[in-house]
Amino acid sequence: MLICKDCGESFSEDDAGSVYDDRGYCGSARAYEEICVCPACGCDDIGDAAFCELCEEWKEADLVEDGVCEECRKKTKIEFDRLLTGVFSPLQIRALRQIEEENGVL
Ligand SMILES: [Zn+2]
Ligand SMILES: [Zn+2]
Repeated sequence: MLICKDCGESFSEDDAGSVYDDRGYCGSARAYEEICVCPACGCDDIGDAAFCELCEEWKEADLVEDGVCEECRKKTKIEFDRLLTGVFSPLQIRALRQIEEENGVL
């Protein structure tokens, strides 16, 4: 799968549009280079896509790690912080930090 970095549309290589970029004359023949473009907006800023299992959307491959996208990681962190401060006292959180350093909490 591919993804448009401009509008976020994801599409398969078969569905990618293509345009011929005029590279001017190469010797006596005119040179054209075929480039892939987004089928939705026509932008050529396209990259590999990876699937995020959490939000079930295709995202830029660079932003997806272990099946989770950057956005979902941020949201999960916020949720975790909210849960943590709701359940544990500041001193307990300090203790948890120490445990995390020694053994890892999760
Ligand atoms: Zn696009
Ligand atoms: Zn996600």
